[in-house]
Amino acid sequence: MIIDLRSDTVTKPTKGMLEAMWSAQVGDDVFGEDPTVNALEQKLAEMFGMEAGLFCPSGTMTNQIAVKLHTGPQKEVICHKYSHIYLYEAGGIMANAHASVKLLEGVYGKITAQDVADNISPDDVHACETSLVSLENTMNKGGGSIYTLEEVKPIKTLCDQHGIKLHLDGARLFNSLVVTGESPKDWGVQFDTISICLSKGLGCPIGSVLLGTKADIKRARKIRKSFGGGMRQAGYLAAAAIYALDHHVDRLTEDHARSKVIGQMLEKHHLVSEVFPVMTNIVIARLQGISPEDFLSKLADKGIKAVKFGKDQVRFVTHLDFNDEMLELFGERIKEI
Ligand SMILES: *Cc1c(COP(=O)(O)O)cnc(C)c1O
Repeated sequence: MIIDLRSDTVTKPTKGMLEAMWSAQVGDDVFGEDPTVNALEQKLAEMFGMEAGLFCPSGTMTNQIAVKLHTGPQKEVICHKYSHIYLYEAGGIMANAHASVKLLEGVYGKITAQDVADNISPDDVHACETSLVSLENTMNKGGGSIYTLEEVKPIKTLCDQHGIKLHLDGARLFNSLVVTGESPKDWGVQFDTISICLSKGLGCPIGSVLLGTKADIKRARKIRKSFGGGMRQAGYLAAAAIYALDHHVDRLTEDHARSKVIGQMLEKHHLVSEVFPVMTNIVIARLQGISPEDFLSKLADKGIKAVKFGKDQVRFVTHLDFNDEMLELFGERIKEI
């Protein structure tokens, strides 16, 4: 049995999800006529207390649309140096928005209001004015670390004082909310735009939704079209998303419980020097005495897949298609390495 822990994107739709897709009502969404897409956008917007939503093919697209909405040439976005929007979106900030980036340091991928305050670029003839701050929750490269609302609020206050927009890359926001018990609405009021991925822990084959004001989402719809992201009978995909929101949110705690066990197993391993605190479904291990490439190849020989995550690190992600039997096998197999 192959145990695939490369990402929570590797899941396949469940039977229930496929049935929901099969029976979806659809129409042409570029004409705004797909009732299931409209229902999904409305459902998420209501859940977060935001005005409107926009269904997109990927989280990269929702993030990049947001960056383009809130920045532009001679504007700058502030984010952590390990942010997905900067590190893993193929240079999109430059290519799509023609904006500059100011990268901040911070523990486990997180930045504070003080970090932001110290780095705002003014509207000055020499400067590239800061028009956007972007946070990521959970923070992928921080080991699935969590921002709490209390950490976000002072950042929001600061942004408001300076007329700066605040975006959330919430690819795995639900992973955070099931841990803290905070409500989606409390998060919705803190941000101008939020991107939510449906194809990660929620187990959909495709899709992300961008949330924001009616005016921003109207502009976002036009930017999506220019990115080639206008979809037609996308209701089949939106039906999977609605099913996932109804059935796959609470169960994220199972993924978290399994990733904690993986973290404990790896901590004891002779080739591992450190495991980042396991907060959600991501486990990052720092290696000792072996390169990530060699470690991954030893894992592959045992039927385990993970990914390199930095010069001396590897990442494991638990998900809907990883069960207790696989967890037990994982434990047996890594002992043999
Ligand atoms: C996966 C991910 C995205 C979006 O990636 P896509 O593959 O384009 O959907 C955005 N942000 C974070 C933190 C992610 O992990």
